[in-house]
Amino acid sequence: MAQIQAVGFDLDYTLAEYKIAFDLLAYDGAVRKLIAMGYPKEVASFKYDPKRYQRGLLIDKQRGNVLKLDRHKYVKVAYHGLSKLESAERKAIYARSFEAQPTFSPPEYASIDTDFLLVDVCLFCQLVDLKDRFPEQLLQSYATIYQQVRRAVDLCHCDGEIKDPVAVEPAKYIYESPELAAMLSQLKLGGKQVFLLTNSLYDYTKVVLEFLLGPHWLNYFDLVICGARKPGFLLDPYLPIFRVNTADASLQNIEMGSEALAQRALSEGKVFQGGNWNHLHRMLRLQTGSALMYVGDHMYSDILRSKRTLGWRTVLMVPELCHEVSMLERSEG
Ligand SMILES: [Mg+2]
Repeated sequence: MAQIQAVGFDLDYTLAEYKIAFDLLAYDGAVRKLIAMGYPKEVASFKYDPKRYQRGLLIDKQRGNVLKLDRHKYVKVAYHGLSKLESAERKAIYARSFEAQPTFSPPEYASIDTDFLLVDVCLFCQLVDLKDRFPEQLLQSYATIYQQVRRAVDLCHCDGEIKDPVAVEPAKYIYESPELAAMLSQLKLGGKQVFLLTNSLYDYTKVVLEFLLGPHWLNYFDLVICGARKPGFLLDPYLPIFRVNTADASLQNIEMGSEALAQRALSEGKVFQGGNWNHLHRMLRLQTGSALMYVGDHMYSDILRSKRTLGWRTVLMVPELCHEVSMLERSEG
């Protein structure tokens, strides 16, 4: 920890843990949007089943299947929609052979690597099941259904379907985190620069952090970057950065071509939108990525890219492990 000069955090599913009610905003909103797009009215009676799925699953968009792979990329469990595939059927499709090794990569496959996507899996499997039962009602392919589900859920994240209710009553959707303030203060007292790097925009970030840390939430951070567009932030050195005027959330162009300019920009206000890792390193006065530790929940966007290309030290949040560990302890105890 001694070599670490700066510690950064992602927001969603890292500092902020969401309740099932939050998923329901996306799920119910997406259901309404799909019906408006012409999906059959049976969709309105679907129920979200949060216990059924977890991160780490893989969707086979073309076949309408959801898969669980082991670390050798062997398909251990497969469901077609809501029905489990028998072992023989599963092996006939996915068993390896020298001629046809499944790639399990996009665009045919989608990994469920963030909790935001659990709503997608649930809705997709229910729609695959509906299509199999009433093929005349759902003429589009499984892959098109997946694409439309993704779009419907994504729209809910952009158009206020989710953000507006969270802003009105955050306690209904976000778990309180009584130790967060002390943890962030402790890091600062230990001489670390503390920053936030999130893809969420400023208005939403403010709602969430005001709920978790109180009205003076900005005091806990040396630097806040919203709307970061990870993984692009970590890869594309040409993405421009803007200052966020916290009074009205308006944006302003700023120049950060050198460390001196970056320091001047930071001295005039610490909230920004967009940009790339160069801007971050200059504002934090880092000579090397290995002096930075970043905590996130997204395996690809938060962890793998930043580690491989920038040498950041990373911490992956895996809340599912708490459950796994307690089950293990129970079975051993
Ligand atoms: Mg996140």
